[in-house]
Amino acid sequence: MIETKSYNYYNIKTKHVGENMNFKVNQDLCIGCGACEEICPEVFELVDDKSQVKLNPVPEEFQESALDAGNGCPVQAISHK
Ligand code: SF4
Repeated sequence: MIETKSYNYYNIKTKHVGENMNFKVNQDLCIGCGACEEICPEVFELVDDKSQVKLNPVPEEFQESALDAGNGCPVQAISHK
């Protein structure tokens, strides 16, 4: 079943869980707080104090937590398309 929960990130078009989704971390914005890795370790990993996306496109089973991680990023460094 496709969920209707969705999120809007600044200039990124809203996508819904179940759609093809690729995530990106803006390395210039990331402050290495680790929140995204804590929320969604399947997708985000801290390397040298910067978050990296280790799984693209993000499988449906991890999309919601990846979106939550993006929503929880204090500097809005995470986007998806
Ligand atoms: S939550 Fe944002 S600032 Fe913190 S590590 Fe992840 S991408 Fe970087």
